[in-house]
Amino acid sequence: MDLQTPIAQASKAYKMYASRLAKLGIFKIEDFLFHTPFRYEDYSLVSKIGQVQPGETVTLKGEVVEIKNQYTRRFKTIQKAKVKDETGEIEITWFNQPFIPKTIIKDDFVSFSGKVESFHNKPSMQSPDYEVVSENMLHTGRLVPIYPETKGVSSKWLRRQVFKALSESKDEIKEFLPSKTIERNSLLDLRDALEKIHFPKTMEEAEKAKERLSFDELFLLQLSSLFRKTEWNKKIIKKPFKVENFQKELTKFKGSLPFELTKAQEKAINEILEDFKKDKPMNRLLEGEVGSGKTVVAAAGILVSYLNGFQSALMAPTEILAQQHFHTISKLLEPFKIKVELITHSSKGKKNADVYVGTHALISSKIKFDNLGFVVIDEQQRFGVEQRTILRQKGENPHVLTMTATPIPRTVALTIYGDLDLSFLDEMPKGRKKVKTWLVPPEKREGAYEWIEKQVKEGDQVFIICPLIEESENMVSVKAATKEFERLRKEVFPSLRLALLHGKMKAGEKEEILRDFKDKKYDILVSTPVVEVGIDIPNATIMMIEESQRFGLAQLHQLRGRVGRGEKQSYCLLFTDAKNPSTLERIRSMETIYFGPELAELDLKLRGPGQIYGTMQHGKEIFKVADFSDFDLVKKARTEAEIIFPEMENNPELMEKVALINKSLVSPD
Ligand code: ADP
Ligand code: MG
Repeated sequence: MDLQTPIAQASKAYKMYASRLAKLGIFKIEDFLFHTPFRYEDYSLVSKIGQVQPGETVTLKGEVVEIKNQYTRRFKTIQKAKVKDETGEIEITWFNQPFIPKTIIKDDFVSFSGKVESFHNKPSMQSPDYEVVSENMLHTGRLVPIYPETKGVSSKWLRRQVFKALSESKDEIKEFLPSKTIERNSLLDLRDALEKIHFPKTMEEAEKAKERLSFDELFLLQLSSLFRKTEWNKKIIKKPFKVENFQKELTKFKGSLPFELTKAQEKAINEILEDFKKDKPMNRLLEGEVGSGKTVVAAAGILVSYLNGFQSALMAPTEILAQQHFHTISKLLEPFKIKVELITHSSKGKKNADVYVGTHALISSKIKFDNLGFVVIDEQQRFGVEQRTILRQKGENPHVLTMTATPIPRTVALTIYGDLDLSFLDEMPKGRKKVKTWLVPPEKREGAYEWIEKQVKEGDQVFIICPLIEESENMVSVKAATKEFERLRKEVFPSLRLALLHGKMKAGEKEEILRDFKDKKYDILVSTPVVEVGIDIPNATIMMIEESQRFGLAQLHQLRGRVGRGEKQSYCLLFTDAKNPSTLERIRSMETIYFGPELAELDLKLRGPGQIYGTMQHGKEIFKVADFSDFDLVKKARTEAEIIFPEMENNPELMEKVALINKSLVSPD
């Protein structure tokens, strides 16, 4: 058995654990080592039994005087033990763990860690962690690692597996970082870091270990994006676009717009045009929040592509978004007699056009592109790498523009999308009214409902977002939303027309409800948080969010972006029953900050990276240990990757690691 042995083949005993461990991402023995603790229980204070005080978290060592199962009514059991040392005796109780008196028996010398309580005025311990005293204490008397667990896989069990894997793999854990890298960044070596992340003597050791393992993840990610960027840059375009020749048309395009472009839009368009002139295909990400005007930017690119004799394709994640883009693009390009076609699963026959706008139906093989030069992918995080690649391969090294409204801080974007060139629309169009935002405490709930009803009677439409229950939308969330919907419909707004939208509905059903809402057949749309609405519903002016404290600021901001798309003043009401002043302050920052990436950055500082993952569909899998909020380490890793990259090919171990990351790609292509 070695570190590469798959769990199912490691031994009979492991075999039954294989499927449970898979849930934790543990597939082979080595994965135990990288299943890192998310916290440590501090059991390092060892005390004499006669000296313990109620309330203390301590470790006691003593001889078992007595241990037995007691049966209570209803088939429950209590385990009672008496343990003594030279200073005294203490009583210990567990509940429903009838196997304990088999694991530890009378006269064993055992170590117990836990909180001391007072029972009948005598110190006692309830459900402490325990182990027979030995050379290698894993569960008591030290900093004890607590791991992500799953049913049937406890931290205690995991600790033993990690320890075993560590002791049986003395020479197998190979350092893959160049020694220069280790020195320059004062890192622990790999073996040392792995030992210390699981079984540190002090918290400083644990920190240092975490730093090394985080560095690895950030560094490898950087290397892999440098690698991908280099690969991409090997692609050659036969005929670079001519941009200068078409300045007249571009001016005409801008002049035909019913508004003036923002500086940010101008800049993004210029960045795209610069890319077009090169003999390498563009690979650019346009990040701009909802309403920042990404579509016009894409349209300018489509126009230049057309003028150069190339077709373009714009892919959107839903039919309704595709239709919206189709109308917008057709209208924007009308003055140029460009043929735009909408491609969805319901569109029939072979079409010939200059621009194809569609859903992922675009990648189904029926459509043949003669000359695809420019690919635009909206809401890129909604598509898999494969889908994006297939579309790209319909042309010969076409330019690629991906667009996202996910507000990720610049630092994070640079790390995750290091292989892409980035354009930011960090400025909203002029005259756009800010969505007035208020925090609504419980005592103002009734008043808020009355105000909403009054606004609706004056013709406004409302979104009500149900509380976030779990990250993914399961039946629990759907049930809760349905219940809230019924309550609102029957008790709060009996005279208004309400509709419910949730992620478990069929796509067609969802789109019908959205269309009806847009057509003003409903006044209020009650929805679960996961339902994304990229479409414009200009008449919706009120966004009401329940239990807003459960959301990240960036998420709240994205939700808020669903209103304020029309002429009228819009409002966002953040309901909360939170009392904690710092929580309230966090939500209140929504009242004053209106720039998504800034809110995302604030989230990163206040609540850690989980919040970013919450707004990014592919974010979760990126790191096991590393953390974007560690800006210094992110920077260190980036600098180091740039130094090492040119010599990477001489380091097969590093190449192998990078290849692995490239297989689980996070960014387009
Ligand atoms: P995004 O896709 O970034 O969410 P859109 O491209 O759909 O945003 O644009 C949102 C709305 O703003 C559209 O109605 C569009 O016509 C309008 N718009 C875009 N740019 C400007 C601008 N510079 N000034 C005023 N309105 C703009
Ligand atoms: Mg858009």
